[in-house]
Amino acid sequence: NARLVWFRSDLRTHDNTALSEAAAQGPVIAVFLRCLEQWQQHGHGANKLDFWGRGVAALREDLAGLNIPLLHRDIDRFDAAPEALLAIAREHGACALHFNAEYPLDEQRRDAAVISGLESAGLTVHAHRDAVAFTPGELLTGQGDYYSVFTPFAKAWHRQLDGNRLALRNAPAPQPRLPVDSDPLPPLPRLDDSPIDGRHWPAGQSAAADRLERFLRYRGRHYRDQRDFPAVRGTSELSPYLALGMMSHRQCLQAVMGENGGQLADGDAGLTAWVSELIWREFYQHIVVGFPRVCQHRAFQQHTEALAWRDDEAGFTAWCEGRTGYPLVDAAMRQLVQTGWMHNRLRMVTAMFLTKHLLIDWRRGERFFLRHLIDGEFAANNGGWQWAASTGTDAAPYFRIFNPTTQSTRFDPQADFITEFVPELSSVPVKKRHAPVSDLLDSAAYPPPIVDHRAARARALDAFKALKD
Ligand code: FAD
Repeated sequence: NARLVWFRSDLRTHDNTALSEAAAQGPVIAVFLRCLEQWQQHGHGANKLDFWGRGVAALREDLAGLNIPLLHRDIDRFDAAPEALLAIAREHGACALHFNAEYPLDEQRRDAAVISGLESAGLTVHAHRDAVAFTPGELLTGQGDYYSVFTPFAKAWHRQLDGNRLALRNAPAPQPRLPVDSDPLPPLPRLDDSPIDGRHWPAGQSAAADRLERFLRYRGRHYRDQRDFPAVRGTSELSPYLALGMMSHRQCLQAVMGENGGQLADGDAGLTAWVSELIWREFYQHIVVGFPRVCQHRAFQQHTEALAWRDDEAGFTAWCEGRTGYPLVDAAMRQLVQTGWMHNRLRMVTAMFLTKHLLIDWRRGERFFLRHLIDGEFAANNGGWQWAASTGTDAAPYFRIFNPTTQSTRFDPQADFITEFVPELSSVPVKKRHAPVSDLLDSAAYPPPIVDHRAARARALDAFKALKD
């Protein structure tokens, strides 16, 4: 009696809870359901969808080495999942389905429908905890509520962690061959945008493992000091791999412990700062379960729903195209569109610029990011946007508004990053590349600033103060 393992955003054979649990009990058939219409409706664009497809191809190879066939179905929408899985189960006489839980609301609803559909047809269904150390709901405040502030969440995470939660599971041993062939994988159809050249992001678990190893060997200990400088490759660039599960958070944390005398909370300051980012990732996964309104385009801080966001198509377009006249903002937006990834410091700077300087609704920026990000991940993206917009959990207080010019002189002091993405400024002296440069450049070559920092700041403060009154 075979067991089905339904892969979603957990595209690996090593340390995959659902796979190893299923394989321990009998022969396994792997399934992938491609839901292009639904994923696009969720906002994912060509870069992520292409990476997803390449990740499934790499997984198919890895599974083939274990004699596990991979069945591939195009179902377009989540609501077709129960029927598709039931049909596969009947065709292959499967007795059980295993998958690793996913936490955004639509994914939870999809999984609930699959559980009830398959169980009522007599199959057993196992939803495993895999993407997080604690199931959302396991870590609560003294009052029994979900944490809405990161620091106490992280403290509780460290306090309650025991070795078992991070234990790694080997990929299962090769199974005897089954009389089932893997399906050929269909190519990605033409989408509105074409995906970026994926060479910088080779898909699959071995590419992810190489990247983790190189990061920890060369950059991990410098992470705290270098992580904020976009011209330096100071971060791991593992986000696309974590978002699609080509690497597990346990593999990351175990590797840190290996370098850090078995510790996560103490020891090397660079490594512990990196651990903290992985806990941010988990924090936002808990938030989407504890506060499902954030999955329905709603603000976490409900009173901010009344904020008078501006309609400003010209401003929004200038932001999207990297033509705001603020060099760091523009360089960052061009990095996003040209490479499918943006440095974390710049995600904060650009998100704050859109929501504070332009006073444009964070939901528009959230969607634009997802359309381009190769690491687009609902919980982290929504959390990051709501943080920057001061509508979210643990949000930036509304009066703390980054000055894009100061951010630029602090975090890109030689303007190296700016010059890479805004080459129009190469003729301007380095020191002047940070600030609006209208007096030094022809506005046809590079636009003058579309807003004045001080006036825009005052406008944003007024809008937020009006909420309080
Ligand atoms: P590292 O600095 O090496 O961090 C290691 C890992 O920790 C990352 O790969 C990521 O999985 C996780 N992580 C780091 N910072 C955060 C954070 N603030 N919140 C949650 N997880 C974090 N991250 C995404 O994975 N997908 C998104 O769609 C996304 N959208 C964002 C939108 C905004 C407005 C902001 C401010 C942040 C967003 N982030 C998102 C978080 C963060 O910017 C990226 O995870 C990080 O830049 C990825 O680069 P890295 O892998 O080199 O990170």
